[in-house]
Amino acid sequence: MMILTNCEGRVGMDAARRILEQGGSGRDAIEHGIRVVEADVTVDSVGRGGSPNLLGEMECDAAIMDGTTHMAGSVGALRGYLHAISVARAVMERLPHVMLVGEGAARFAHEIGAEKAEMLTEQARARHERWLREHVPPEVLTKWPDVPLAEYAWTSGKDYAPGGTVVFLVRDAKGGIAAGTSTSGWAESYPGRLGDSPIIGAGLCADSRLGACGCTHNGEMAIRTGTARSVLLYMKAGATVQEACHEAMQDLRDLRGGQLGAVVIHAIDVYGNPCVVSSHELLEKSSWYHWTNEMTEAEQRQAEIPKPAYRLGDDG
Ligand code: ASP
Repeated sequence: MMILTNCEGRVGMDAARRILEQGGSGRDAIEHGIRVVEADVTVDSVGRGGSPNLLGEMECDAAIMDGTTHMAGSVGALRGYLHAISVARAVMERLPHVMLVGEGAARFAHEIGAEKAEMLTEQARARHERWLREHVPPEVLTKWPDVPLAEYAWTSGKDYAPGGTVVFLVRDAKGGIAAGTSTSGWAESYPGRLGDSPIIGAGLCADSRLGACGCTHNGEMAIRTGTARSVLLYMKAGATVQEACHEAMQDLRDLRGGQLGAVVIHAIDVYGNPCVVSSHELLEKSSWYHWTNEMTEAEQRQAEIPKPAYRLGDDG
């Protein structure tokens, strides 16, 4: 049994671990672990207490994938419900669909009796108002939000200090591998923006024959390169988990155009061997936690920053 989670997931590690120790499945462990994070207001980028969009509204994304069946469920831009991960799991288990967004996701959350909550805390509202004061000219602010918002999405991208997704990768006692994510996404982004976290193959992927992968930070980049699925396919082609992460990191480094930034890739192979690589030095945001049933306590580790293999255009 093993669990890999990132710094956001630290508070949920024990809950996830207990489930595995009691013989629970990877998907149970992931849901329990992520629920703790979503309810913890000190994690300012996931669930309640997370960061709102340009309208000051919290839109949460979450996804779960079972690598044995390849069943997956995800929700995007879900408003007003505490546990996006549980709604995502219910999409996987109760609908013929994989992904619900916006009003449909909220309608389904209501239908299954999911817990409603005021997701925007006073601290998050204050962060949002401070951001507006610092970045929007006073004459525009008086009309806010009835103004064109596009340029402010670029502004928020420039000073966005991301790293706000909880990732759980789990291998259970039966060797089943699963992955889960949850986030309030890019702070001060354009309303309706979806990152990679709810997108199977970009922000997460699990395959019990190969391993699992989950990404954090600039979700647009992980979508553009299909990062999570790429890591698994590189392993399928014979790469070790570390080689696969390096290849996927190189794919990210070769992107041109758009809002480019940091990405952290978390991955395990079929045996549960972990690897976490980061494109940049991100201080505590690149620390991660690893537990196996041979350990008494989870170990904290730091992401590796692979050297670029080459830069596009280097050789003319
Ligand atoms: N990857 C997430 C997103 O793009 C955000 C993050 O991890 O910082 O929504």
